[in-house]
Amino acid sequence: MVIHASSDIQKGDEIWHSYISPLTDFMDRKETFNCWKFKCDCKLCEIEANDKNYLKRSEIAKQFNEFAEANKESPHIVIVKGESVLKEIRETYDEKNEFKIQLISVHMILSGIYFDIDNVIKSIEYLEAAISLMDNLIKYAFNIAQITVNLAHCYLLLGNYPKVKEMVQKAFKFSFCIDMDHFKMCFPEIANDLP
Ligand SMILES: [Zn+2]
Repeated sequence: MVIHASSDIQKGDEIWHSYISPLTDFMDRKETFNCWKFKCDCKLCEIEANDKNYLKRSEIAKQFNEFAEANKESPHIVIVKGESVLKEIRETYDEKNEFKIQLISVHMILSGIYFDIDNVIKSIEYLEAAISLMDNLIKYAFNIAQITVNLAHCYLLLGNYPKVKEMVQKAFKFSFCIDMDHFKMCFPEIANDLP
């Protein structure tokens, strides 16, 4: 395993590592951390612990996840439901909330469903929205290189080669790969389409 620091480390600094995906619900994260006998005091946990809308939002997201799981065969129904859930969740956040985890999560689910029904343009729209919601500290906890490669793949299907190039450059930067051969090894799904 290779670990890259996302910022300079000074002598004596505490080093952070996200044990589990930050998309995991706060209560489930807390429970997992309990098993490892620690209480997480990262910024995300602090914000969610003090957020009066957290429980309501968590319930909406959980119900949607179950709904999407139960209706895999009916993507159009899940999309209609997902659009209204997005609106509901958006209303539970105020503008100064930095980490809109549940909103990211629903965007990712909808992007995948749109991709599966060959609506690449909508899939891109939701992936781009998810990425812009991660434009803060949270991006270091996600595999943002993979998400950007997925975007490159979508643009490739549309034949938008300048965008493919832009996304690959972005993904390369996020991936911390040492060169293009290394990058192709990490992302074989797009390797054949790269120069
Ligand atoms: Zn935490």
